Amino acid sequence: MIPQPDPSATPETDFSELLGAPLASALSAKGYTTLTPIQKSVLDPALDGRDLRMSSQTGSGKTLAVGFVLRHAFAEPMPRGGQASQPRALVIAPTRELAKQVEAELGWLYAPLKIRVVALTGGASYRDEHRALAQNPGIVVGTPGRLLDHLNRGSLNGSLVETVVLDEADRMLDLGFKEELESILATLPEGHRTHLVSATFDRQVAALADRVQSNATTVQGTPLGVANDDIDHVVYLAHPQQRIDALINLLLMQPDAQTLIFARTRAEVSEITEELRNQGFNADSLSGEMPQDARNRALAGMRRGATRVLVATDVAARGIDVPAIAFVIQLDTPNDPDTYTHRSGRTGRAGRKGTSALLIPPAALNRTKSLLARARVRHRIEPVPTAEAIRAADDQRALAELSRELDAEVPERIREQVRKLIEAGAAERALTHLLLESQNASVEPRQIQPLLPQQERKRPFQSAPRQRELAPQRGFAPRDRDFAPRDRDFAPRDRDFTPRNRDVAPSDRVDWVPFHVSWGEEHGADARRLVAMLCRRGGIRSSDIGAIRVSRKFSSVEVAARVSEGFRHATRTPDRRDPNVSIIPA
Ligand code: ADP
Ligand code: MG
Repeated sequence: MIPQPDPSATPETDFSELLGAPLASALSAKGYTTLTPIQKSVLDPALDGRDLRMSSQTGSGKTLAVGFVLRHAFAEPMPRGGQASQPRALVIAPTRELAKQVEAELGWLYAPLKIRVVALTGGASYRDEHRALAQNPGIVVGTPGRLLDHLNRGSLNGSLVETVVLDEADRMLDLGFKEELESILATLPEGHRTHLVSATFDRQVAALADRVQSNATTVQGTPLGVANDDIDHVVYLAHPQQRIDALINLLLMQPDAQTLIFARTRAEVSEITEELRNQGFNADSLSGEMPQDARNRALAGMRRGATRVLVATDVAARGIDVPAIAFVIQLDTPNDPDTYTHRSGRTGRAGRKGTSALLIPPAALNRTKSLLARARVRHRIEPVPTAEAIRAADDQRALAELSRELDAEVPERIREQVRKLIEAGAAERALTHLLLESQNASVEPRQIQPLLPQQERKRPFQSAPRQRELAPQRGFAPRDRDFAPRDRDFAPRDRDFTPRNRDVAPSDRVDWVPFHVSWGEEHGADARRLVAMLCRRGGIRSSDIGAIRVSRKFSSVEVAARVSEGFRHATRTPDRRDPNVSIIPA
């Protein structure tokens, strides 16, 4: 990953020897003091003149590395602009957004050399693009279809291209751009360099590389198998009917994190965006069916930090670089590890920390685990935060916020108001109003049934500290054999256990008799098993059982007074199945 400033390291601020003064000055103007591994690797003089296969993990600065490689294409000055645009370098990218991003990054890098960079993308107006091409760009970046269009129309001429780069080559093949790529390459002169960039080089990409490259060599930055330590991988389980609720709670748990959500289809993208907006989230979508200007606006809103949540399809969000994205949520398990790598790689960029979450139904857990293993990431499984946990975190934040040191000069008007409130003895009321208001303004967390796989339940205390804090307590009625809900939000707790105890008129209130049962959590007791055992041994129905409290070594239960005498009789003699469990009036 991109090195964080390390006080013990001497920054390599002088890149001019390797890159030449102009590019080096662009880097220092940008404030970059170190290079990423892939950027260092491509500067090795032994690579000059070779076709490169560049691979390095997501967010590790491959774009700039491409920029460095392209410098050889400008060994000779650019020709004066003629009829058609004759760039020295072409960069082909799978999506419009990516092409724009590469245009921007190479734009500032080459600014000191006065070499223009232009992007040609589907959806943009030809008139604007012709005008841009007329400016005699040295580097043209584009999506395959649109580049080919311009080449065919003659507005772009490939005859002086010295270097062509295929960025996200794997993706371009996935998207079915093979024909277009080969047609573009066929228009380029003999002897040009062809570089491929891909986070992963599978068979398909290698086959393309073999066909289009000569004398190729591989350049690795951060090796693919090495996990990006800046990304925390978490799996959350939710039943399909609670998916949106779980999503809302995940968003509320990190209220300040700019979040990218991946949905499988375009229809799903609009549905989820709509739903989140209705809930009061500042959400936008990014998908292929949207007109280009809407896509640009969506991405720009995210870059400015004006949009909190962006819901996107894989294709549209491929390779996008919004360094502030701190949270990626995937609403389905991708079919291949590369897609997972690419999705999760939208966070943890440029040395920042991020979380990549998969929100999946329990039935998808095994498939998901195997996918994560193939993507070579370590993950943990956590229950979706409950409404209770979210409120507790909110309260803590509010308290911290209200008691924070005042960091700026407080205007006299405010001081005056505070003084008046205190004098009037209204400070408490005032604070209450403020807190109520902020609560009303926030999205309500959802009641959800937090799920964990059985296995995680059995050894909650061996896991990471965060998991310990959220570890399941007494499991209750695991209907689905493998997945036990935690009891925090919905499970019976004391008096609240049976609905009978709540909504009943005082006149038909049931009286309860407490019993002590010598069977606790330690011996495998849980509410469901207790009910079963009490009914069997005491000859009562589950509706005759009131509050249940499972402690470590014993449990306390309430039995309806009406049947308690018979119950006491029936349970007095030791049971053949559970001879050691005694049930006595408390
Ligand atoms: P990749 O293509 O490998 O996924 P990008 O080229 O999009 O990654 O770069 C990710 C981010 O890191 C970008 O915001 C980029 O500006 C930033 N970056 C790249 N190189 C450096 C560097 N040497 N120092 C600091 N930030 C960098
Ligand atoms: Mg990239």
